[in-house]
Amino acid sequence: MKIAFHGAARAVTGSKHLITLNNNTQILLDCGMFQGMGPVTDKLNGYFGFEPSNITYLILSHAHIDHCGLLPRLVAEGFKGNIYATPATMDLTRILLMDSAKIQEQDAEFMNRKRKEHEEVEEPLYTEEDVVKTLSQFKVVNYNEAFKIDDQISLNLTDAGHILGSAAVHLTINEDGKETRITFSGDVGRYGDLLLKSPQRFEQSDYVIMESTYGDSLHKDLDPIEDMLLEIIKNTCLVKKGKVIIPAFSVGRTQELLYALNGLELKNKLPDVAYYVDSPLSIQATEVLKNHPEVYNSGVKQVLKVDDDIFNFKGLKFIESVEESKALNNDSRPCVIISASGMAEGGRVRHHIRNNIGNKKNTILMVGYAEPNSLGGKLAAGNKSVYIFREDHDVLAEVASIKSMSAHGDYEDLLHFLACQNPSKVKQLFLVHGEYEVQQNFAVKLKEKGFKHVAIPEYHQEYEI
Ligand SMILES: [Zn+2]
Repeated sequence: MKIAFHGAARAVTGSKHLITLNNNTQILLDCGMFQGMGPVTDKLNGYFGFEPSNITYLILSHAHIDHCGLLPRLVAEGFKGNIYATPATMDLTRILLMDSAKIQEQDAEFMNRKRKEHEEVEEPLYTEEDVVKTLSQFKVVNYNEAFKIDDQISLNLTDAGHILGSAAVHLTINEDGKETRITFSGDVGRYGDLLLKSPQRFEQSDYVIMESTYGDSLHKDLDPIEDMLLEIIKNTCLVKKGKVIIPAFSVGRTQELLYALNGLELKNKLPDVAYYVDSPLSIQATEVLKNHPEVYNSGVKQVLKVDDDIFNFKGLKFIESVEESKALNNDSRPCVIISASGMAEGGRVRHHIRNNIGNKKNTILMVGYAEPNSLGGKLAAGNKSVYIFREDHDVLAEVASIKSMSAHGDYEDLLHFLACQNPSKVKQLFLVHGEYEVQQNFAVKLKEKGFKHVAIPEYHQEYEI
């Protein structure tokens, strides 16, 4: 059989890995969108490197757009097979793809309004109609269920602890009398996440496709997240009478923040100020998480015994309408605003940052990963001036960060994930989903652990295995 890497190859977005059996059965692992790659992004998203109608099955590791964002495009171009994912991933994918389709359609409309006569009409990558069709092809598979896809292929999904529903994918393939086990890590979370369970152990594999986002860095904080949050809110809202602005991903970080703040309330420590979640998608994602208590770790299950609404506390308000969001600008009272996007590249949080960055009594709190070129990345790096909405703004507000609030494990977590494997039995380990330099450093660490054959595939590179 063959395995080819059509995305997230020496890069962190566009996850797509294709397994082709000798009888031409094709299994595609993830179908993610490329994001933030500059002017080539559209080109990358416009060309798969394989024929969508030839794909037999799709297995989706989790609902992040860089893993599922091109599924509707794949379906629009002729993919008719089943899409296997956990129930929580299916529910989350539904809201994220609908949101993504809306953005695609709005962007195309905007470009066409500005289009000059000789220029081509801009088509969206896909529409909400394509998303509806895609969702009809989902088949749910529970964690740790030995699921037979066909006579030749069985599938097992284990919890990857990265976001709600995230899975590591384990395939057992029988081909010409020989059994081959292939593991795809998906994205691997942290051991000791506030909400989610730690990544699970898995059986010995012959080939491992391994993510490597943080393959050469550590991001543990010394203090618990709750304590750090409390300190920042006290200092900003109570001492300086300012606002705390937190750019946070709608899925994951927002719920983790709410859970931590709820934890402070349960301990009677939560400062008595207003708290806002200003992002319609975050509100939907919080609802989806509430519907899947099976993903919670044992700590959360304990809290649920005394508090049945773990994402809600006194003073919290969810904001949906644009008018209410704008009204926050004119309210000078101290408050905490959690808003998307996490890297502050888009969404309502850009407005909140622009309106509050010029006053030293405010704090912008970064949680989780921000790409260095994004607004969030520049703030986290300590830039003294940033460009927002076509204007330069001096950074007078305090900028703080809580590094351990990341959906991705650091290299110790990644090595922990692989510790259940006998390295000498892994015939080949393929590193994906990482910057090339980081991957090279991670490969050195893996070789020290005894993994002899570590490859870093290039974009579209194919291997015979
Ligand atoms: Zn992810």
